[in-house]
Amino acid sequence: MAFEGLSGKLQDTFKKLRGKGKLTEKDIKEATREIKLALLEADVNFKVVKKFVADINERSMGAEVLKSLTPGQQVIKIVKDEMTRLLGEKPVKLDYASKGLTGLMLVGLQGAGKTTTAGKLANHMKKDGKKVLLVACDVYRPAAVKQLQVVGKQVDAEVYSDETSKDPVQIAKDGFRFAREHFFDVVLYDTAGRLQIDETLMEELAKIKEEVAPDHIVLNIDAMTGQEAVQVAETFNEKIDLTGVILTKLDGDTRGGAALSVSAVTGKPILFAGMGEKLTDLEIFYPDRMASRILGMGDVLSFIEKAQADFDEEKAKEQMDKFRKQTYTLEDFKEQLLQMKSMGSFKDIIDMMPGANKKALKGMDFDDKEFARSEAIINSMTKNERIQPNIINASRRKRIAAGSGTRVQDVNKLLKGFEQSKKMMKQLSGLNNKKHGKMKFP
Ligand code: GDP
Repeated sequence: MAFEGLSGKLQDTFKKLRGKGKLTEKDIKEATREIKLALLEADVNFKVVKKFVADINERSMGAEVLKSLTPGQQVIKIVKDEMTRLLGEKPVKLDYASKGLTGLMLVGLQGAGKTTTAGKLANHMKKDGKKVLLVACDVYRPAAVKQLQVVGKQVDAEVYSDETSKDPVQIAKDGFRFAREHFFDVVLYDTAGRLQIDETLMEELAKIKEEVAPDHIVLNIDAMTGQEAVQVAETFNEKIDLTGVILTKLDGDTRGGAALSVSAVTGKPILFAGMGEKLTDLEIFYPDRMASRILGMGDVLSFIEKAQADFDEEKAKEQMDKFRKQTYTLEDFKEQLLQMKSMGSFKDIIDMMPGANKKALKGMDFDDKEFARSEAIINSMTKNERIQPNIINASRRKRIAAGSGTRVQDVNKLLKGFEQSKKMMKQLSGLNNKKHGKMKFP
């Protein structure tokens, strides 16, 4: 995920804070200085950083923090609160018009992910039972219409386009009329972007807005853009008054900090986060959960939701029981790997884990090949070996490697992964029991 560097640095600072029984003003100054540098390095806008750090300083210097029995924890909590506030405080749901057609216009620079996001949103809204029309208003980029058609087909949403026209405003109007006449619930306008902010484009977008009066005007911001993301967001907001923002490419490994500033500088909520290229890779944006992830506290809730959406619940329950009773075997591990494969990248899953030994786990970022290899290795084991992995000695490892067409290192890696997974899931099942007793997931 983006913010990895930031996350690592903040965790180092937190570690120092936790290690101290008592905190002095100097300790807090030092910690806030580190936080400030980490944020600046991650590309968070300097004005935003200044305010963020000042707020933390002010709240942390209070007597109740310094005198508390756990001052380090208190400061960390303050940072978490402020980070949540920076990201918008409360999640904002994209609402539908109380009756009739809901209009949503997607805007942003070229490559920000508008077309992909249009598909993701259509997919998301279809799950809400909505009939969605996608309107292709990008008449400049070659193949933009075709791309939207491909995306529409993938999510089974109809696309309105007019390849004979070069007039995006007219296409938007026609699309709107088509949506109304055919009783669609939502009409999504996929508009053109430019490489940079440009006056003509802004005028065009303003005209489309005027003609079709969408309920939502949502800016796509690529989390991989650096500092200029802030200016882009400010300009779009000034010219066409946004209603919300979607951050895309948060799965990337760039610094991402600029994206963190977007909500603060525009005052507009972040509605969703794009977490990959697939049309299912869209997450509702929860400021507090994202703050937890950035601060390395994990995001158990999102993990569990993802697990609930993608896992077979009965199977997951069974596995959690096994973790608790310590009867988890390599057979179960194989099954779990197969389930994870359907959930997306292993790295994304690890990012949501609280604490965990992320560095050790990062080494085993499973791609499809790894999944196939792991499956082959486990298939080459005898039943006894799968149930009691501790009997797998060097000669057995050699035999398993030969049988699965892999190397002994691969077998070692898999066994290590199995042990890590056992530990990690045990930790998760414990957490889940303690904190989220009411949830459906066991
Ligand atoms: P547009 O020019 O704004 O319509 O952008 P596109 O939808 O064509 O997206 C540009 C590129 O970004 C494409 O290759 C997409 O697959 C990719 N993309 C879009 N959203 C995401 C995301 O959330 N994560 C990743 N990794 N790639 C994305």
